[in-house]
Amino acid sequence: MDNDTRQELPAGRGPETLPATPDPAVAAQFQELLDGRWAEDRNRIREFLDDEFFRPQVGLPIGEAREAVLERLDRMRATGMQRGAFGADHGGTGDTGATLTGMEMIGHADLGVMVKSGVQWGLFGGAVEALGTERHMHLVPQIIDLELLGCFAMTERGHGSDVQNLETTITYDKESGEFVVNSPGLSAEKTYIGNAARHGRMAAVFGQLHTPGSDESHGVHCVLVPVRDADGNAMPGVTIGDNVVVGAGSVVTKDLPDNVVAVGNPCRVLRPISDNDREYYFKQHPIDPALLR
Ligand SMILES: Cc1cc2nc3c(=O)[nH]c(=O)nc-3n(C[C@H](O)[C@H](O)[C@H](O)COP(=O)(O)OP(=O)(O)OC[C@H]3O[C@@H](n4cnc5c(N)ncnc54)[C@H](O)[C@@H]3O)c2cc1C
Repeated sequence: MDNDTRQELPAGRGPETLPATPDPAVAAQFQELLDGRWAEDRNRIREFLDDEFFRPQVGLPIGEAREAVLERLDRMRATGMQRGAFGADHGGTGDTGATLTGMEMIGHADLGVMVKSGVQWGLFGGAVEALGTERHMHLVPQIIDLELLGCFAMTERGHGSDVQNLETTITYDKESGEFVVNSPGLSAEKTYIGNAARHGRMAAVFGQLHTPGSDESHGVHCVLVPVRDADGNAMPGVTIGDNVVVGAGSVVTKDLPDNVVAVGNPCRVLRPISDNDREYYFKQHPIDPALLR
């Protein structure tokens, strides 16, 4: 070859090749280096996940899958890794990075558990601790220990990142001393809400705050709304069917059948969930079929 630039290297100066069997001690050091500040936490979770209980479970019916994810979340609770997300005054350790690392590691085994832990301890628990008043703080240890499961109801069908334009209203009623929460239409419907389908008993609901005598919103605020009783029932005597979308703040006073959208106080069925919903979303924007694959 005329343009071959390769040269013979002097004996003993050839490029080094990796040994056929890497040195395990070097591999461990390399892993520790890549694991960074929370290396010990990562190792603890690795050991914790090295259990038959965390093997992937594919094809479970939805009800069983939900219970399986809850059981796994309870195993996570027992490790105490969630305490980092909360302050020492409320039973936490304040090491947020350790908790986030733990959640990230769990995601290697089960993304459902990662999301549920993020909703329970990050979003819901974080909202109660950071936005709550003194009278809410007794709830924080219950949230840490999964005695109180909850939801973070911020996203609306018409408002994802655009939180400042949420449509749900939170209106103070002077007569009763209560806050009335209302999602007035489909674009105000709370959506994507983790823990809402089965296990959540309370929701941290975000909406525009209104006070008597003022038409102006005081901006987006958060209120805690009970969504189920202590036994997990929606309301005494009320059954909510499967695949039902209920607008946040709705008061469900009678049974809702399967596959419907229902909102309001009292909650009423707006329409069935149709094939149209699989093709279009807010304001009839077509859904890219590639996203559904
Ligand atoms: C698995 C999962 C779980 C979730 N759980 C919850 C939950 O428990 N509670 C809850 O309230 N929500 C939840 N969400 C909703 C999530 O928080 C929203 O998806 C998020 O707020 C984004 O809203 P969106 O999907 O409507 O996207 P959009 O707001 O429509 O954004 C679409 C795209 O536009 C970009 N974009 C938006 N605004 C701007 C801007 N100003 N400048 C530049 N780019 C912009 C975004 O980055 C994004 O790429 C969940 C979502 C998922 C996927």
